[in-house]
Amino acid sequence: MIEYRSPAEIEQMRPAGRFVASVLTALEQKAAVGVNLLDLDALAHQMIRDAGATSCYIDYHPSFGASPFGKVLCTSVNDAVLHGLPHDYVLADGDLLSVDFAASLNGWVSDSALSVVVGTARPEDLTLIETTQVALAAAIEAAQPGARLGDISFAIARVATKAGYKINTDFGGHGVGRTMHGDPHVPNNGRRGRGLPLKPGLVIAIEPWFLQGTDKIVTDPDGWTLRSRDGSRGAHSEHTIALTADGPLVLTAR
Ligand code: MG
Repeated sequence: MIEYRSPAEIEQMRPAGRFVASVLTALEQKAAVGVNLLDLDALAHQMIRDAGATSCYIDYHPSFGASPFGKVLCTSVNDAVLHGLPHDYVLADGDLLSVDFAASLNGWVSDSALSVVVGTARPEDLTLIETTQVALAAAIEAAQPGARLGDISFAIARVATKAGYKINTDFGGHGVGRTMHGDPHVPNNGRRGRGLPLKPGLVIAIEPWFLQGTDKIVTDPDGWTLRSRDGSRGAHSEHTIALTADGPLVLTAR
C-alpha cells in the first residue's frame, strides 16, 4: 500500500534526511587509503547514538538474509555494489567504495547512498560513479506531480544505456516512511508515461546502481554482499525525495 504524506509530515521527515546526509558527508570525508570498513561503521554508529537516531540496518532480517545484518552501514568495495556487510578490510589505493545508509529519526526514515574512489582513481571508475549521479539527477527531475513512475525509471535507464551500462532490475528504489522499505518499488528501468501516477505526498528512495561490465550479480558467502558476476566494478547513488506540489524535494541533499 502506498502512503501519501501531508506537507506537515514531509516537514517532519526533513531532520532524518539531514541526519542521513550528514553521516554520508562524514563517511565520504573519512574514507581514505588505510581506513578499515569497520571504522566507517563505527563512525556511523557513533553519529546515530549522538543524534538519538535508530539504525534501519542493524536488526534488518529479511527472508533472503541468513541472519540479522548486525551493522549500521552497507560498505561495498570494487566489484561489490550493494548490501556490502562491513568487515575487517583496510581500504587500498584505487578502491571504489559505495556506502549506503538509512536511519530513523523522530520516527521517520531516510535512505541515501554514494560512491567514492579512495586514493588514485581509474578514469573508468570516475565515469561509472558520475553516471549514477547523472542518472539520479535525471530521475529526480522526472519526479514531478502529473508524471508517472515509469518516467523516473526511464530517466535512469536512458542515462545508463547511453553510457553503455546494462541495467539490473532485481534491486531498485522504494517507498520510504516510518520504515525503510515500502511501496512502490522504483525499478531502474521502465517505460515512459507508464505506471503509478505521481502525486504530492509520495516519498521514495531513488537509487541507480550500475556495473561496468554486466547486469548479473552474485551473493557472497556472508549472505548479504552483492557482487558483479564478471568481477567488474559497481557504483551506487541514492537520495530520498518527497514529491510536493512544487516538484521533488531532496530530503537527503548534501
Ligand atoms: Mg539505501
